[in-house]
Amino acid sequence: AEQEMIRSEKLKVVAQMAAGFAHEVRNPLTTIRGFIQLNHQNGTLMSDDSYQLVIDEIDRVNTIIHELLDTADPDADNGHKVTDVNQVLRDVITLQESQLRSRGISWQLMLDPKLPEARVNRNKLKQVLVNLVQNAVEAMPDGGELRTMTDWGDGALVIGIEDTGIGMEQPVIDRLGTPFFTRKATGTGLGLTMSFRYVEEMNGHMSIMSRPGEGSLFTLRLPAAVSERHAAFSE
Ligand code: ADP
Ligand code: MG
Repeated sequence: AEQEMIRSEKLKVVAQMAAGFAHEVRNPLTTIRGFIQLNHQNGTLMSDDSYQLVIDEIDRVNTIIHELLDTADPDADNGHKVTDVNQVLRDVITLQESQLRSRGISWQLMLDPKLPEARVNRNKLKQVLVNLVQNAVEAMPDGGELRTMTDWGDGALVIGIEDTGIGMEQPVIDRLGTPFFTRKATGTGLGLTMSFRYVEEMNGHMSIMSRPGEGSLFTLRLPAAVSERHAAFSE
């Protein structure tokens, strides 16, 4: 009986990983499909920007596959690199622009030009921001406003993703990040589970403020890369 239990626990982990993998790969594939379809309809050559986005998204799928294969290796490099967070956020919004436009959502980027760099895994940060923006979009079925901002203080970078959507009651907020918790007909309930895990891996923190009928604000805090340099100098 004990063996049986271990086996079913293992199967559960495999099933969860497979679902997570599918979730992560679907976003870039949707983007690639969209760009190629648009390109075909227009009958034109892809612009340099679109071409680069498609290549980047294919690379991202590749990275995800590699990461999945690497998860068994505890000594594997965690891939933290000094990163321009403003640029990651710009890229994420650029990827979503046509979707935002078609859903009647206006957007604002309020980026602090003096933002320090962060030491993060770029692909994971991008995945987290894509998840948060996607949730914001899905919370505004009748259009609205998406505000994204960056700021910093106390050695931390702050990223805000705010929507004017349906919002959440406190009991819903309390359950965010629970695997498979979703209130959408076709949701997976894995986006925030993964986002919380990635933010934790980057030694960051994610907090949520929301009001039903008014909207939600997801705030990410990430350690600035400079604080590590200071730490090195003080040795
Ligand atoms: P999914 O999007 O697949 O449902 P997530 O983990 O991304 O899974 O989100 C879980 C749930 O949290 C969503 O189904 C939704 O009910 C709620 N949620 C997340 N973000 C927002 C938001 N910005 N506004 C309102 N509800 C949200
Ligand atoms: Mg989601």
